Amino acid sequence: MVTDQLRDGYDVVVVGGGAAGLNGALMLARSRRSVVVIDAGAPRNAPATGVHGFLSRDGIPPAELLERGRSEVRGYGGQVVPGEVDTVVREDDGFAVTLADGRTVRARRLLVATGLVDELPDIPGLRARWGRDVLHCPYCHGWEVRDQAIGVLATGPMSVHQALMFRQLSDDVTFFSHTMSPTAEEAEQLAARGIGVVNGEVASLEIVGDRLVGVRLSDGTMVGREALAVASRMTARAGFLEALGLRPVEHPMGVGANIPADATGRTEVPGVWVAGNVTDLVAQVGTSAAAGAAAGAQINADLIAEETRLAVAAHRDPFSAENEARLCEQTAGDRRHGL
Ligand SMILES: Cc1cc2nc3c(=O)[nH]c(=O)nc-3n(C[C@H](O)[C@H](O)[C@H](O)COP(=O)(O)OP(=O)(O)OC[C@H]3O[C@@H](n4cnc5c(N)ncnc54)[C@H](O)[C@@H]3O)c2cc1C
Repeated sequence: MVTDQLRDGYDVVVVGGGAAGLNGALMLARSRRSVVVIDAGAPRNAPATGVHGFLSRDGIPPAELLERGRSEVRGYGGQVVPGEVDTVVREDDGFAVTLADGRTVRARRLLVATGLVDELPDIPGLRARWGRDVLHCPYCHGWEVRDQAIGVLATGPMSVHQALMFRQLSDDVTFFSHTMSPTAEEAEQLAARGIGVVNGEVASLEIVGDRLVGVRLSDGTMVGREALAVASRMTARAGFLEALGLRPVEHPMGVGANIPADATGRTEVPGVWVAGNVTDLVAQVGTSAAAGAAAGAQINADLIAEETRLAVAAHRDPFSAENEARLCEQTAGDRRHGL
């Protein structure tokens, strides 16, 4: 039965219900773990019409992919509940997760899959075109703008690389140096690949009939373009982890800030895993889903290790305090507090 009613506690609370969180929850629900996904419902690729480069689902609308994911999680008894997590604090040997609406749930383990925020340059008209004809990723929507007049707005250390990537898709690529000039080596690379460089600050985008038609410089010059590639600064959405001591750190490539973790998604805070864009800023949908699945499996293994350790202790000493407490929990459940 699908219900939004939160229980008091779960084996795992998954924060964020994009590709990473849902695939993590799928693995956990199939392992018969009690799991809830709490999701604020704003996945990063929401403005795009289709998810590209994801095997067997290429082009599927982002909302449809996630709806399928939610229904798969629910099919195994997992819950997916709308809501925004506000704070997480350590409580006993787990966590207390508080939502913005005041509800609180307990979790033995936490999987954080809250994605990232794309910080875009403050240029009039740009944000409204994001995911449409203002793009960032050649793998996500490069094919859709192949052979078009493409501009690349220099915003950060990856912008020249971005121009070289889009050059693979069109002969007509222009690099707008905007507020940063290419180095001599980069300028040589751009020239060698036939990418024109336009100097001067970009002031606004020209839109006609709901389509990008050009880029206007601050001196008034207009350069006709049908698509504009922009590298956003990417910052992990993780403010609610502060009380646990987990904060985004500057990424070595200078492209943003992420929550660091090992290859399995385990963070430096015991019991907290991360997956998807919150830790891997350049992860695509497929990579994020895979990371969520891997983290889900690791969390299950961690819980199994804990349960086995307790079972062995109980097996060795049936009258231990731990065993008495477990027996009491099993027989009296929530009523035990009144005993
Ligand atoms: C315009 C655009 C187009 C893209 N197109 C493609 C593409 O074609 N192919 C591709 O492979 N990749 C594409 N990507 C990249 C893709 O969006 C990411 O790889 C993917 O969304 C990462 O998945 P995720 O689960 O880590 O995060 P997200 O999908 O961003 O999901 C995170 C979820 O967590 C929720 N959340 C955040 N904070 C909280 C909180 N405090 N409490 C509860 N919930 C919270 C959010 O609301 C969201 O629902 C695109 C990106 C952009 C910007």
